[in-house]
Formats: sequence, structure tokens, C-alpha cells
Amino acid sequence: MRHYLLAIDQGTTSSRAMVFDDRGQVMASAQQEFPQYFPHDGWVEHDGMEILRSVMDVLSQVMGSLPDGIYPTAMGITNQRETTLIWDRDTGVPIAPAIVWQDRRTTDLCQKMKQDGLEEMVSEKTGLLLDPYFSATKIKWILDNVDGARVRANKGELAFGTVDSFLLWHLTEGRVHGTDVSNAARTLLFNIRDMAWDPDLLHLFDIPESLLPQVKASDHHFGDMALFDRTIPITGIAGDQQAALIGQNCLSPGQVKCTYGTGGFIMMNVGDKIIRSQNRLLTTVAYEIQGKVAYALEGSFFCAGSAVQWLRDGLKIITHASETEALARSVDSTGGVYMVPAFTGLGAPHWNPAARGSLLGLTRGTGRAEIARAALESVGYQTADLLEAMTQDTGISCEGLRVDGGMVGNDWLLQFLADVLQVRVVCAQVSETTAYGVARLAGIGSGVFRALDERSKGVEKNNLRMPGMAVDHAISLRENWNNAVKSTCYYSKG
Ligand code: ADP
Repeated sequence: MRHYLLAIDQGTTSSRAMVFDDRGQVMASAQQEFPQYFPHDGWVEHDGMEILRSVMDVLSQVMGSLPDGIYPTAMGITNQRETTLIWDRDTGVPIAPAIVWQDRRTTDLCQKMKQDGLEEMVSEKTGLLLDPYFSATKIKWILDNVDGARVRANKGELAFGTVDSFLLWHLTEGRVHGTDVSNAARTLLFNIRDMAWDPDLLHLFDIPESLLPQVKASDHHFGDMALFDRTIPITGIAGDQQAALIGQNCLSPGQVKCTYGTGGFIMMNVGDKIIRSQNRLLTTVAYEIQGKVAYALEGSFFCAGSAVQWLRDGLKIITHASETEALARSVDSTGGVYMVPAFTGLGAPHWNPAARGSLLGLTRGTGRAEIARAALESVGYQTADLLEAMTQDTGISCEGLRVDGGMVGNDWLLQFLADVLQVRVVCAQVSETTAYGVARLAGIGSGVFRALDERSKGVEKNNLRMPGMAVDHAISLRENWNNAVKSTCYYSKG
């Protein structure tokens, strides 16, 4: 008998629901955007009830479009991570707008805590950095700034959750206040060694424990939802990057995935031991499945597809992102041109927020092809820098890179990645790796699959690129890039 698995993918700008069969074929899909709010410089908010409505809409669309007689065996939830909601336990209605992961309003608080020398302690327990990105300071902000919030929290009238938790609460009609380990690990309150909320951190951030959801394994049977006259078990929850790691089948230590969208997000499975980075990469919980916890190292760079967007919207040298492929192919090299796309600073492992972008090595021979190629190459170099940092931190050399996201439609880029990284690059067969990952998780949790790698063989072979460039050449390109980064940082300081 065929089984079907329903995935909710609640992202930063849109909500999506997808149904997969147990071979990974997409049976139905629906997507809906929801409003973003920017009330002040650096603030980013969502309305929790608008998120919920968008999820309910895509759920009914996707269920309505399934062929007769098909009903999913189980469902999973994957979500934008860190985004913080606090709601009334009686009504389920948030007491304030959701503070989105991108929101920087708690920068000063984080800065102060760093100056007080607290980062090492926080990092040691959580694997994260003291940054506004994560939930703890956002929770504190709501408790300190919304009328009556702290008093009500102390009385146990309120509940905190990341988006998975908020959805779980509503899908189970207020019966379940829970989350999974991968989401809990992004709050700055969860001790990834003990795998539990940490009393010292709760004290430090002044957050009452009564607010917090129960933390369960990622493949736990979290609860049940009444959906289309039947009941569906919710048997998988994971944060979006962790779900993509599962969707990409990165289930063994050393396996790495990178998602190339606006930015680049790399995650390496490091197995059951915590590895602290010397390069300010994050250590996080990848998942807990069938009683086993896996950890991951995570790093990101801010600018991947956004460099291509700049060619289109800023420089106006292309009209579609895909034109960069033919342009890059039309020349043998960039002719010594390097683009360091530090439009909003440089992320890991350079960590230079003050840096701004540069184009170096221009000659009279430089044209749009060289510049487009330099933009694509910068994506490869930034990936190489992060992978090198991960290899240094873990002592595990990466056997290949699994890629997904909007940019992997660019075939030239895939080959350049294999060349400059000198590893094989495997492009995901299922393009929606995040939703697919949580569908598989729900499949494990509900017993459709006995093991996570079951029925995933086809994903491996598809769209493989092998390194074709001589090692020496790859090294010299990376040396030039490193010099370009140094020059860019030097200029930004001056
Ligand atoms: P996000 O999820 O961050 O919105 P997507 O995964 O949808 O991003 O990817 C979109 C990004 O990929 C855009 O920045 C776009 O410029 C870039 N992109 C899409 N197709 C191509 C292509 N063929 N070549 C290069 N860049 C591309």
C-alpha cells in the first residue's frame, strides 16, 4: 500500500503545504505569501494569526487538490527558525507581533551582555553566539515592553514558542505546547549538552520557565489534528535548515548541504559529538531521530543570489538571473576580475560587518560577461571559505556537497562549485528539500519508514558534477580571492 505524507513548510515570506508519496514524488502543493511588517529601522515583524491563516489556507488547498481516496498517513512541520511568539494560553492569540529572526532590536542588549563577558558561557551551553538573531532576547523584549506581559507570564497565563510551537498549539486546538530539539536549540535557552532548558540561561535572560514548551525528539508523535473529517498525527518537527539537511540525506558525519537562495546556508552533520568552532560557526542540534541525537555545524554567507539580483536591478546588465549562465560560459575566465559581494558585510568565517563590496582587477577588456562570471564565482569562493573552516573545526574532510535552492538551476555554477571546492557536487532531485525533509521525518515518526535512509536511493545519483579543474589552478584562484577579501576589508576600515 502506498503511503502519503503531508508537510507544512512555514517560511519567512510564505507558507507552503505539500503532499509527497513514500517514494518522494510530489502529489500536491500550495503556497501563500503573508504580510511583512517593518515598523522601525531594523525591526521585522509578522502577525501570528496571519501566519496561522496562511497555513490553514494552504492546508485546505492542498487537501482539496489531492486525488480521491488519498489521505496522508502523517504530517510534519518545518519552519522559519528563531522567530518568537508569545500568546495567551486561554485564547491562543499572540499578545504582540511575532519578532522575526532578522529583527535587530535587541542589538544593544546583546552588545552589553558581550561586554559583561557572558558570551563564552552562553556559547558553551548553546553552541550559538550572543546575537539578536536568536529567540532569548526577543522573548525578554516582549516581556519587558508589552503591558502586563511579565506579570501574566509569572502567573503562567502565557506561552512562548517558535513558529512550529505556535502552529502545533493551534493545529491541536490548544492541547499541545511542544517543540522539537532542533527548534529549541535556536532559542539561546536550550543546553545542547543536557538536551534540556538551562536554568542558568533562563535566569540570565530573566525568562520564567512556565512560558516554555516541552521539548521532544524531532520524530515524536506531537499530537493529532482534525483535518477534513479525519484525524492526522503530527509526527515530525524540524527547523527549516535542519529539515533541508534531512531532505538532502546528510545523515552521516561529514555530509554537508548548502542552500543557495538570496544568501548561502551551509550545514554539516557532525554526528553525536558536539564540536565547538574556532571560526565562529554555530553548533546546533541537527535532529533527534529514533533516540539518537545528531549535531551540526552551521555557517552562512549573506550574499549569493543577491549578487545576481544586483547585476539585474542595480547594474542592469542582465534582465533575468538565468542569463548569468550563458554570460559566464561566453568567456574563458574573468580576466582577473574578482567581486567581493560584501553589500551588507561579510559573514562566517570573515565576520566583518563593516566591510562593503568591491570589484577588483578591472581592465579595458572587462565587460558584462566577466562581471557576471565574477559574481557567480564569488558564490563558489564563499562556499570554499566556509567549507575550509568546517574542515578545520571538525577534522572531517567533506566528501561532497549537496546543493539546493534557486541558484542551482545554474549549471555553470554547479560545475564551478565542483571545480573550486575540488569535491563532487550533488544537486537535490526533489527541489523542495525542506518540505521533503520534514515529510520523511513524519514518515519515520509514524512508522511509514523504518529508517531515515529508506526509499531515498534515487536522490543520490541525480545531477552529479565532478571536479574538472586542475588542483593548482583552483588553489591559485582561491589565493587571488583571499587577497581580494583582504583588500576589501582593508578599504572598509580606512
Ligand atoms: P530565497 O528562498 O532566498 O528567496 P530562492 O531559493 O528562490 O531564494 O532563489 C532565488 C535567488 O536565486 C535569487 O537571488 C536569484 O537571483 C537567484 N537565481 C535564480 N535562478 C538563477 C540562475 N539560473 N542563475 C543565477 N542565479 C539565479
